Amino acid sequence: MSKLDELLQRNRAFEATGAYAGLSIMPRQPVFVVTCLDPRVDPAAFLGVGLGDAPVVRNAGGRVTEAVIDDVAFIGYLANVMIPEGPLFEVAVIHHTGCGTGFLADADFRHAYVTRTGLDESLLADSAVVDPEQTVATDVKRLLASPKLSDRVTAAGYVYDLDTGLVRMTVPPAQPTPGPAA
Ligand SMILES: [Zn+2]
Repeated sequence: MSKLDELLQRNRAFEATGAYAGLSIMPRQPVFVVTCLDPRVDPAAFLGVGLGDAPVVRNAGGRVTEAVIDDVAFIGYLANVMIPEGPLFEVAVIHHTGCGTGFLADADFRHAYVTRTGLDESLLADSAVVDPEQTVATDVKRLLASPKLSDRVTAAGYVYDLDTGLVRMTVPPAQPTPGPAA
């Protein structure tokens, strides 16, 4: 017995639909989504992102880490190679209200976690999403400053409100503005 049993049954139902057949690796929507791994924050549900629509990266908070920047750089490069005349895609960084990473803003919680894991306490404090509008602005800025990105990519920031189900843009789309290499 696996804890995946119920989901494996759903996979059999999915297989029967044939929906996986003939999909392109190039997304249907010119969008790359970065958002939180919270089970309530699934772009398939709140944005209707369907199979083959868009690459989605999810981590705690939906933060733009160096690993996320590397993924955006890779997909941008791949898109350049595969469709040189193709449209830009927008990286949509979406943070949400009521994020569980907010616990990391609590000094006692954070300190106990650091004791358990040995992780860097100041980095953990920075990774907390308490004010999603503020952290999304920080993360879009960080992404756009990276020299790794294709200049055909744009990035924008959004906040998803768990209470209303609505997503609103808080940082309009902009192109990368890499500074001098550090
Ligand atoms: Zn979250």
